[in-house]
Amino acid sequence: MVDCIIVGSGVAGISAALTLQANRKTFLIFGSKSLSEKIEKAEKIHNYPGLSDVSGKEFIAALQTQLSDAKIEVNEEKVAGVYALKEGFTLLTQGGEQYQSRAVILACGVESVKQIEGEESFVGRGVSYCATCDGFLYKDKTIAVVCTTKRLEHEIGYLADFAEKVYLIPMYKNVEIERENITVIRKMPAKIEGNLRVENLAFASAPAENIPEKLPVNGVFMLRESVSPAILMGGLQTENGHVIVGRDMSTNITGCFAAGDCTGRPYQYAKAVGEGNVAAHSVSEFLK
Ligand SMILES: Cc1cc2nc3c(=O)[nH]c(=O)nc-3n(C[C@H](O)[C@H](O)[C@H](O)COP(=O)(O)OP(=O)(O)OC[C@H]3O[C@@H](n4cnc5c(N)ncnc54)[C@H](O)[C@@H]3O)c2cc1C
Repeated sequence: MVDCIIVGSGVAGISAALTLQANRKTFLIFGSKSLSEKIEKAEKIHNYPGLSDVSGKEFIAALQTQLSDAKIEVNEEKVAGVYALKEGFTLLTQGGEQYQSRAVILACGVESVKQIEGEESFVGRGVSYCATCDGFLYKDKTIAVVCTTKRLEHEIGYLADFAEKVYLIPMYKNVEIERENITVIRKMPAKIEGNLRVENLAFASAPAENIPEKLPVNGVFMLRESVSPAILMGGLQTENGHVIVGRDMSTNITGCFAAGDCTGRPYQYAKAVGEGNVAAHSVSEFLK
């Protein structure tokens, strides 16, 4: 069991990791080796102290060098769920691995894509965020996959191995995956409908001549870079999709702290770095 698990390798998570290391705590950090899509996308950053007019890519390179110098390795497994136990936490990855820690820092960022109407109410009843966790449930079934990033295209392939028919709604350019049972639809869905379980994915109007306004589906997979923190961790108090935190970055769950964009606006590097630092110090206090 490690002292702390950090979910997210953006600047909030990295700041927390560097501070935990300085405080001589053991930890694991989950995210991606390329650290954060949001930093990658930034053309020029003007408002970060000490770095004038740096590009997102230059910022990433500097962070990667710093992590490598500090011998901090980012674990690339995607976190599917975090569970509070009597003592500590268990984290489950999409690949089915489990990790234990005494404390947790959620630094998972926010997804800029808005939720689709009906999405939240059908979670566990046909709406899933994890291809490898739930894909087998849709063997020989028809599913829709809304995917916001090319990075998760391999998960679409995994789902297409099970499902009979996959409607892929990509929110990115240059779709590369091609399978006989995948139909690509380039239109934003409006609503997930059903009764006890998901029955349809509805568009505001028919997306194409041979495709109806409502797709009859058995399930809808939402493949996003970030999952809402409340879905990641049951019982976590949120408001408008943001984790509710105190000044010490504590959440309503004892031993669970949060930092960065996931705690609310402004969405800025300096705020995320500061909160990551405070969260790590609070974890160190908590562990005492
Ligand atoms: C185009 C653009 C330009 C910007 N320019 C500026 C600027 O000039 N100045 C400024 O201050 N701010 C800027 N921002 C905002 C800034 O990028 C964010 O405030 C900052 O990245 C937030 O850091 P974070 O660590 O909270 O989250 P993120 O950077 O979003 O990192 C979250 C991390 O969590 C990981 N993650 C999420 N869920 C999971 C999971 N389930 N399992 C494993 N890992 C997970 C993600 O992969 C990612 O690595 C810009 C944003 C964009 C999009």
